[in-house]
Amino acid sequence: MIALFKYPIVKPYLPDITKYQSYIEDIYKRCWLTNNGPLVQLLQQRLAEYLRVDNLLLVCNGTVALQVAYKALEIEGNVITTPFSFAASASSLCWQGLTPKFIDIDATSLNISMSNVDQKLLRQSSAILGVHVFGNPCNVDEIDNIANQNGLKVVYDAAHAFGSNVSGQSVLRYGDASTLSLHATKLFHCIEGGAIIFKRKNDLERAKHLINFGFDEKQRPQSVGINAKMSEVHAAMGLAVLDDIESILDKRKELTNLYHSLLEGVVELQVWHSKGKNNGAYMPILFSDEAQLITVRDILANKGIQTRRYFYPCLSQVEAYGENGETPVASCISSRVLCLPLYTDLLPADVRYICDSLIKAL
Ligand SMILES: *Cc1c(COP(=O)(O)O)cnc(C)c1O
Repeated sequence: MIALFKYPIVKPYLPDITKYQSYIEDIYKRCWLTNNGPLVQLLQQRLAEYLRVDNLLLVCNGTVALQVAYKALEIEGNVITTPFSFAASASSLCWQGLTPKFIDIDATSLNISMSNVDQKLLRQSSAILGVHVFGNPCNVDEIDNIANQNGLKVVYDAAHAFGSNVSGQSVLRYGDASTLSLHATKLFHCIEGGAIIFKRKNDLERAKHLINFGFDEKQRPQSVGINAKMSEVHAAMGLAVLDDIESILDKRKELTNLYHSLLEGVVELQVWHSKGKNNGAYMPILFSDEAQLITVRDILANKGIQTRRYFYPCLSQVEAYGENGETPVASCISSRVLCLPLYTDLLPADVRYICDSLIKAL
């Protein structure tokens, strides 16, 4: 797929191969391949330090990170969430036997909007699942307030929010738990991987058992667990990528800033949280309507520029997730949003070419 396009939508970051190899050679010498090995422990510690968070637990992927978070926090029944996200935020709820209750989003931040939330729905729900869409922090103070007033737990799907801050602090510090995806296409990755950041240490301790079949210290099941462990080989990739994270973030921010300066006033752009800065995770743009989007997408594809309708369809219209909730803003945004290529190998000249092609296509 990727090879067909001169400018793919994403290109995974690969660190120096000799560094990765030396980690792999160490794994061979130890013959400790998984089950909370030394590289997983090291990556866990280094990530917590880098992100300045406590209670961070590495797991096998970002979807299971969400599922383990719900289970550790003992969330039940209805969960209020956004329909404008990747499938995994809703499917993870359904898979855990929870019911997603979709409410609408804000048309500028593209995040869940609590401004018109129904009081009855708040009373009938046990939690809010917010998503920091494209890395843009949700209105975390408002969500916290509403959750506190109504006795709701808060989980943030922070799959896009690596390196994203609010008032100079990691956005991962908000909520009872926040989860990361460390998938190959994400800004920071372990090929496949995920992490959960808990507010409270006792939730972290419970989750440590849950991700290892629910075993206690004597290897006896004390709860219904799952296998959500990260392997040493995946942690090795994470450690090698983490060494380069500052240059990855700088490069992505530089490209995002250039995109924004060239596309300002041409298409609609996501409005970022006033107390944070774009982390350069994605480059979404909004067209005036779906017909325009499709025309431009096809013209760009013919020029070797891959784009992605991310997120489409709107999750409140997916039958498998219960199809509940009228979310006109999210439906409209879903039909008009397109993400443009963004990865560290992309050059400023490439961004100029892509924007130039886009402007001509309009
Ligand atoms: C990527 C992603 C996930 C899933 O993460 P995986 O590591 O691929 O399981 C969940 N939510 C959002 C918003 C994502 O973008």
